[in-house]
Amino acid sequence: MYSEGELIERIRARLLDADAVVGIGDDAAVIAMPSGFEMLFCSDLLVENTHFRKATHPPESLGFKSIAINVSDIGAMGGIPLCSVLSLAVPSEIGTTWIDAFIDGMAQACRAFGISLVGGDTSGSELVFIDVAMIGRVETGRAARRDGARPGDGIYVTGSLGESARGLSLLGGAGAADHPAVRRHLFPEPRHRVGRALRDVATAMIDVSDGLSTDLGHIVEASGVSAEIDADRIPREPDVSLELALHGGEDYELIATGTGLPDRVHGVPLTRIGQILPSSGGDRVWLVTPSGREPLDDRGWKHFD
Ligand code: ADP
Ligand code: MG
Repeated sequence: MYSEGELIERIRARLLDADAVVGIGDDAAVIAMPSGFEMLFCSDLLVENTHFRKATHPPESLGFKSIAINVSDIGAMGGIPLCSVLSLAVPSEIGTTWIDAFIDGMAQACRAFGISLVGGDTSGSELVFIDVAMIGRVETGRAARRDGARPGDGIYVTGSLGESARGLSLLGGAGAADHPAVRRHLFPEPRHRVGRALRDVATAMIDVSDGLSTDLGHIVEASGVSAEIDADRIPREPDVSLELALHGGEDYELIATGTGLPDRVHGVPLTRIGQILPSSGGDRVWLVTPSGREPLDDRGWKHFD
């Protein structure tokens, strides 16, 4: 295993910190913030045996994902992702091959999404912890929030849902590495450019990290409204069940509400799956199926159950 200094040097050599006024190597990074913008600031934590298993999740994927999921959060606010810091805790016996592959995955994501890595912290630990924090920017007062949905708005989703959860279920099986669902689970493609384009037309927006039922539930709760979605209109690949499309997590698609949203943005399809209704007291999500209308329980990813 590398020493702490060698590890930081390897990270610095492979990752861009060009956008920082001061990058890796000082007590804190210095980042320019143009006037007229507000800062977006978020983080996501990946914990071994909770979010991934070393036996099934390749290190390239963990590096890539740790950046991609933060880019998705910034995009869901309608912002431009800028730079991040990495706090990494790994067992001292972890191999340099693992570390190098992890850094490769991060570098790949940073290049793909235009992110600089400007600092972090490093520690030993029995389990792997990967915490990436990211800042982004959005024009003052124009962040797309969860609390703006209004009765009469349509509910739209980008791309298709449930495929990442399908990939997770196939992970580790024979030939899994090349399966499109597995690729999608391991190397998610955040919709930040779409989120950015939608920020002025969407009344509310959120990214789908925990599952449609849970994340639409967040919009409904924050906005004080109800929602009705049509089971037949939920976009999913042919081999993905309705159950996974409704409740499977880690899609990193966007849910946006509003009127007259386009049906395609930057080549990504937007599908209208339902509408926002006035609050019904319990701020519920309803699922409309050919056999009727039923409450849709939020059965996405739960952290403390
Ligand atoms: P300090 O004691 O001031 O926290 P460190 O020795 O922990 O400094 O870190 C030295 C420099 O290396 C800092 O600029 C820090 O941001 C950066 N750094 C440390 N760990 C990482 C990491 N895992 N990824 C990226 N940069 C790191
Ligand atoms: Mg430190």
